[in-house]
Amino acid sequence: MSLVERITTSADAKVWYDNIPIESLYTVGIAGEKFFRAIKDRGVIMGSVCPSCNLTYLPPMMYCERCLAELEEWVEVGTKGTVHTYTVVGVSLEGEPLEQPEILALIKVEGAHGGLVHRLGEVKPEDVEIGMPVEAVFKPKKGREGSILDIEHFKPV
Ligand SMILES: [Zn+2]
Repeated sequence: MSLVERITTSADAKVWYDNIPIESLYTVGIAGEKFFRAIKDRGVIMGSVCPSCNLTYLPPMMYCERCLAELEEWVEVGTKGTVHTYTVVGVSLEGEPLEQPEILALIKVEGAHGGLVHRLGEVKPEDVEIGMPVEAVFKPKKGREGSILDIEHFKPV
């Protein structure tokens, strides 16, 4: 096959199977940095505010998605909310059955327009209800790493 011949089937191309070591660094952005630092350092959940639209974004945004204003005002939105929706997971990512099923929920956080997807804990799957009031349970400060998993789970209140 010459260089000017067109390959029409990918199987006709010469291939070389191997691995390429690649490292990447994912940054959470300016708003994410402030959000995760507040969780790690102070155990609080923060949202960004658009006073023009009367919206408090959670997760926080740098810009209002309605009026495009830069959002410079931040507020603590509290650690309580309600279960907006949930699902019970019984199988791992590898397809193996879990010893303990996990409950994943979208938590509508009080004082914010939006919410967080997180685990529910200290509750049985059959006892979870839409609209159930819940509260964030944070890891001890010493073990926090600046991630959403610094919140261990949300528990019923
Ligand atoms: Zn706005």
